[in-house]
Amino acid sequence: MTTECLFCQIAEGTTPSDIVYQDNATIAFRDINPQAPTHVLIIPREHIESFHHVRDAQLWYAILQTAHKVAEQEGISGGYRIVSNVGTAAGQSVEHVHIHLLGGRQMSWPPG
Ligand code: 5GP
Ligand code: ZN
Repeated sequence: MTTECLFCQIAEGTTPSDIVYQDNATIAFRDINPQAPTHVLIIPREHIESFHHVRDAQLWYAILQTAHKVAEQEGISGGYRIVSNVGTAAGQSVEHVHIHLLGGRQMSWPPG
């Protein structure tokens, strides 16, 4: 827990969010500025700066399992996108690792 980290605050419950799933290791909540009909962020409770800093395979698997569960729960398991921005060049704006789960519309490629 890092007190100044927004996503740690969401994990702690000190900043409100629309949580769609949570377990011992992970939390999934709706993005405040959705880019698709379903846009959920999946984070570990543990503060880790980005995907590039994740060294715990079990934790990464837990994050992916949560994405899988939320995709089922949201009814988008037939087609969705998961993405994790790393660093400023990729547009990462919150330095607590997160996966974006996007679905409910046709996706284009390449992403911007
Ligand atoms: P990034 O740009 O780091 O890949 O993604 C950060 C995401 O967090 C953005 O999509 C942004 O809309 C979302 N976000 C920023 N502040 C908040 C907030 O206070 N609550 C929620 N639910 N999402 C947020
Ligand atoms: Zn954090």
